[in-house]
Amino acid sequence: MSVANSFRYYTGTNLGRAALRLNRWRAERTTPRRKSDYLAPPLKISPRTKELIARHYLEGRYANLHRKVAWVTSGAPVELLKALDFYVLYPENHAALCGTARVVEDIAGEAERVGYSQDICSYARTDIGAMLSGKTPVGRLPKPDLLLACTNICQTVLNWYRVLAQHFNAPLVVIDTPFIYTEATDHALAYVVRQMEEMVPVVERIAGKKLDARKLQETTRLSKLASELWLEIMARGKHRPAPLSVFDQFIQMAPIVEMRGDAFTVDFYAAMLREVDTRIANGIGVVKNERKRLLWDNLPIWYRLRYLGEFFAARGISIVASTYTNAWGELAPLIDPARPMESGARAYLHPILNRGTGYKLAMMKRMVVDYQLDGAILHSDRSCKPYSIGQIDQRDRLQREQNIPALLLEADHGDPRAFSEEQVANRLETFVEMLGD
Ligand code: SF4
Repeated sequence: MSVANSFRYYTGTNLGRAALRLNRWRAERTTPRRKSDYLAPPLKISPRTKELIARHYLEGRYANLHRKVAWVTSGAPVELLKALDFYVLYPENHAALCGTARVVEDIAGEAERVGYSQDICSYARTDIGAMLSGKTPVGRLPKPDLLLACTNICQTVLNWYRVLAQHFNAPLVVIDTPFIYTEATDHALAYVVRQMEEMVPVVERIAGKKLDARKLQETTRLSKLASELWLEIMARGKHRPAPLSVFDQFIQMAPIVEMRGDAFTVDFYAAMLREVDTRIANGIGVVKNERKRLLWDNLPIWYRLRYLGEFFAARGISIVASTYTNAWGELAPLIDPARPMESGARAYLHPILNRGTGYKLAMMKRMVVDYQLDGAILHSDRSCKPYSIGQIDQRDRLQREQNIPALLLEADHGDPRAFSEEQVANRLETFVEMLGD
């Protein structure tokens, strides 16, 4: 790195970090308040979450000055890249952030103007729009030196990352994961391990250094620890009243998605678990008068988190379990730091979206029992076809076999143009009536 770049990098990031620390320090000294008669105050950990996310994007702004940058899909074997000191950007997370900032219509519109259809996933449209226009709520995204796409979530990412590769003229590595109907076969496992092994010399060349086996074990260990803590935090939702809702989980999940393999992520979730346990010890429920408990299936509706949280809390309803947030913890037992390649391949083969619909139904049925649920909301996500497939059958079977009301709610995780406020409110009101007293 040249002296000038070095100066820009250290000045920019250090000043930025100091400002973020100050903001957090101020926020932590103010009693957290939520303008709600129905909800407990926000978790005290929230200012720290904001700081982590802001710091991540601040570092991204200057990353091209001093590190290699990889853009990766959410289910990619990122531990390998972390061990090689890549700055890792998750376009899906960036698009989710655009969703909460309510700028998807504007940014995705840039992609639509050049011909990308509104039928394409809004995450892809948002990031392609950001790529074409430079628009982003985080200031600036670094250019990728490497693109890594893993097909364990959908096939959209394959086409999306080809577009990115062409635009940035950057190498694209694809890890292809065969679909798993029940359990992974030895052949499927060997196929993914081999792809990960073949990826090593490619990413070493871009990183300009050799992969250190001990460092890979360490990043894998940190990934596993953070995932285990996340799993424990979600399991605390089994308590009555539930100390946190899925809306808290949606807000607090950014580090487990985009900061896996970092020590500070482990510290962060350990602190969050302590706070949640303190709430339990003090009998604090996130919904002040919890009388019903629900399941959420599929991605969140990022631009309506507050509206939905308030809507349900006002009716004494806590949404306490989610197949989506669970996906970031449930693979923890498969990860073995002593065998990072093989166990990594196994874990990355098994995400919920790479498995048969029967797997998700079985998970939801288990959650209904374990979390003592009174009903389920299945978000039929216009963008995410692989997550939404089979939901009509799943809804019917939850109603029939678990004897709970279940609602199919049509929307989109990122694009507010697929969300009809009035229609959603009417459907939710009818559903709440079905839950009874
Ligand atoms: S289609 Fe679904 S899994 Fe694929 S990128 Fe979009 S939200 Fe993610």
